[in-house]
Amino acid sequence: MTALPELVARHARALAATATDPVSAFIYDLPALRRHVQWLKSLLPPGVELYYAIKANSEAPVLEALAPWVDGFEISSGGEIARALQSGPRRNFIFSGPGKLDSDLRQALRHNVEMIHVESLDEIRRLNAIASELQKRQPVLIRINPSLPAHLATKLSMAGAPTPFGIDEAQLPQAVALVEACPHLALHGFHVHAMSHQLDVERHIQLLDWYLERWPSWQALASDRQTVRWLNAGGGMGVNYLLPQQFDWARLCRHLAARLSSNPQAPRIRFEPGRLVTAFCGYYLMQVLDLKHSHGKNFAVCRGGTHQFRLPSAQGHDHPVLHLPAAHAAATPAAWTVVGQLCTPKDVLSRDAVLSGLAIGDLLVLPLAGAYGYNISHADFLCHPRPQQIFIDAEPSQTTPSRSESHAAHANP
Ligand SMILES: *Cc1c(COP(=O)(O)O)cnc(C)c1O
Repeated sequence: MTALPELVARHARALAATATDPVSAFIYDLPALRRHVQWLKSLLPPGVELYYAIKANSEAPVLEALAPWVDGFEISSGGEIARALQSGPRRNFIFSGPGKLDSDLRQALRHNVEMIHVESLDEIRRLNAIASELQKRQPVLIRINPSLPAHLATKLSMAGAPTPFGIDEAQLPQAVALVEACPHLALHGFHVHAMSHQLDVERHIQLLDWYLERWPSWQALASDRQTVRWLNAGGGMGVNYLLPQQFDWARLCRHLAARLSSNPQAPRIRFEPGRLVTAFCGYYLMQVLDLKHSHGKNFAVCRGGTHQFRLPSAQGHDHPVLHLPAAHAAATPAAWTVVGQLCTPKDVLSRDAVLSGLAIGDLLVLPLAGAYGYNISHADFLCHPRPQQIFIDAEPSQTTPSRSESHAAHANP
């Protein structure tokens, strides 16, 4: 199980000690986030780019911590453009998503979006009109929903199946011809974001290999192949919430390096993960309000709940739970169902978490809460006050990584 960095434990204790009520809060370890993104980037083959999909977590301190280390941000709305622009050092950004508004597109172009991932024929026409109005020639990638072989299509949620995302591969010739007929658009390549929650690196590699095999036929649809050089291979690398083994990023990078070095015709590759970048840096803190026994089960009722940290119920999993103070050696472990304050039986963060010596007032910490945590939740439910978000940005003396911190996030350092 993920270890709790001492820095995070210290902030959790300090918060509880100074608050008037029992606490719930998100705590983000920014030094650990910086180390993690540098590690991700350092393993990529030269020339392969790393963008961060900010919908996973677009809090300003998170974007500021990441900005120096990523090649840019992937954004999905006008609101996200505003967030990305506020993140201190100016970063490139690219724009995907079904249902882009004209006002989103206009805002993106005004702020010099690097590339727009076009998702439909109508969007291509609308974008061309807006680019014309602003007197620009906008680089685009066409987002493909590929016709995957059956063994690769299983369990993919966003491609190789009927979805609202991208343009079916069968329609690709038409889409390429349309972009080429639009004087204010320039086709630079293709984009495929086929899945989320991919934990199996071998399956991810097969998918990537398949894209690279298809690449020459996609590129051949363009009348000028030279300008069609980019393949954005999306995100979707999973985070294992239940076991310490994480997605084998190092293996993916090694495989890609070998593939690219033996193929001079290969496109320039860009990834845009979200979850894999920020999941590890975040912790959801809940203080125990009550301990109950009901029909043979133990319940720990805690401050906060799934309206603040929806991820476990959204994923249908039992989230790992760490206990502060550390388990008392002499106490007998017991299985606790960790719930929040909501008046619904669905407000469960973890069933049968084994904890020793649990007492009212103790702090529980749910790790792996940095991506799709607070921002996918419905925090105004029951008129509860919103949880604090604490961004730990250590003084220089604290930035030296301790062993537990520096490797907690990497199963494959
Ligand atoms: C959500 C999204 C991502 C990031 O997905 P993760 O599963 O967080 O890696 C990347 N690209 C697009 C187009 C997305 O919609």
